[in-house]
Amino acid sequence: SSPRTTTHIALVSVPAFSHQVSILEFAKRLLHLHADTFHVTCIIPTLSSSPSKHSIFFDSLPHNIHCIFLPSVNFHDLNNNGVSVEVQTQLSASRAMSSVRETLVSLSKTTDISALVADAMAPEALEFGKELHILSYIYFPCSTMVLSVCFHSQNLDEEVSCEYKDHPGLIHLPGCIPISGRDLPDSMQDRGSLAYKLFLQRCQRYLNGHDGILVNSFMEFEEEATKAISQHGNGGDYPPVYSVGPITQSGPSGSKSRCECLLWLDKQEPNSVLYVSFGSGGTLSQEQIDELALGLELSKQKFLWVNLRAPNDRASATYFSEGGLVDDDPLHFLPKGFLERTKEQGLVMCGWAPQVEVLGHRSIGAFLSHCGWNSVLESVVHGVPMIAWPLFAEQRSNAALVSDGLKVALRPKMKNPSGINGVVVKEEIVKLIKGVMEGLEGEEIRRKVKELKKLANCAMMGDGSSTRTIANLANKWKRLGKSL
Ligand code: UDP
Repeated sequence: SSPRTTTHIALVSVPAFSHQVSILEFAKRLLHLHADTFHVTCIIPTLSSSPSKHSIFFDSLPHNIHCIFLPSVNFHDLNNNGVSVEVQTQLSASRAMSSVRETLVSLSKTTDISALVADAMAPEALEFGKELHILSYIYFPCSTMVLSVCFHSQNLDEEVSCEYKDHPGLIHLPGCIPISGRDLPDSMQDRGSLAYKLFLQRCQRYLNGHDGILVNSFMEFEEEATKAISQHGNGGDYPPVYSVGPITQSGPSGSKSRCECLLWLDKQEPNSVLYVSFGSGGTLSQEQIDELALGLELSKQKFLWVNLRAPNDRASATYFSEGGLVDDDPLHFLPKGFLERTKEQGLVMCGWAPQVEVLGHRSIGAFLSHCGWNSVLESVVHGVPMIAWPLFAEQRSNAALVSDGLKVALRPKMKNPSGINGVVVKEEIVKLIKGVMEGLEGEEIRRKVKELKKLANCAMMGDGSSTRTIANLANKWKRLGKSL
């Protein structure tokens, strides 16, 4: 037998915690399958405002995953200037590219790197793969459906002449659920914008110049879309697409309030609590906070509302910073008397929650989610039905997939349907909560999500579809490591 060599993989992430978690969890899967032979270095661009609350996640990584945090990039002109999350992420990653390159080059002098995997928001890093003559891949931390949108973006741009949100019919992409123009990602919603230009450029990079795309989804979850995308891949139109998910957070996410909310959940009946979270940065307007609070109260269902933030009319305003109006206690923005009236019914927290543990808790009955892709997968992995309440980025596409497509979620109707982010009124909220937690419609949704939970767990088991895909990639990378 040949002597054991270490296979070194380099990852490049972007300054967004949910992206970092996803690519590092992928690395953990890889190591789980080949613990003794792989070593991973993850290069992470940072912003000065990077919150420290996540350090516990990085501190608990296995010893053979090493993170290099790059010096923070100049970000002030982008931050809070009305620039979208996608533009901020992509441009801040772009600005870190010379440090990424330096780090990779110096790494390659001391170790043989077998493959480079770069986050979808940092596709420029793939150039360095070519330069170093190593295999290079994109890690796509979103759905296959969104990847399909990316692959077709050029065609759509040529075929559709108006703004997508004004497009009269549904948009049909091979294998995907028909989607309305306004549910396409935010980057596509203003075709004269910088966001759209950068998006089209990014999508072009997805189509060539690398060895494949690892997507955080699984065959059984998006079967038709996956088949359609793979068929094209075989014909040579698209690069190979590898479904490696569901990759979800497994380490501690860092929370001081861990005990408080889990202890509170321990006291509740099974399947009785609605978990409410808008992710690591979603905010609501004052009007929407009022309607949601009153809706929760009127529903009489138990609830756990975490990450409550001071209001902001721009839903992604605090994505890169902590809490917008830092001096304001978010609890002040709840309706008068709400906390007192609901003290037996619910728990409101302003801080970060141990979401994966919460979703795995037996007392959780449903998840009112902003439909960030990680949250969607975590909900599915735990068999928790959703209320799909998207805010920004590609969350509306995810919401369409889980509601119209997979039928494991209900989606609110907005009071102001012509606006992309209208208001959901309290009566609608009550209807949704009852719809998903009780009643006949809810029964079907709950049954479906339990079915998907099984499929998700199967995909990640020893001989599951995603495990086999990761194992094949790992073997390929290992062989290369040896031949070098
Ligand atoms: N998360 C968490 N606690 C919180 C809020 C979020 O652990 O209080 C985790 C959540 O489990 C998920 C990630 O942060 O893994 C959020 O990623 P997602 O893609 O859902 O949304 P984003 O935060 O990027 O909008």
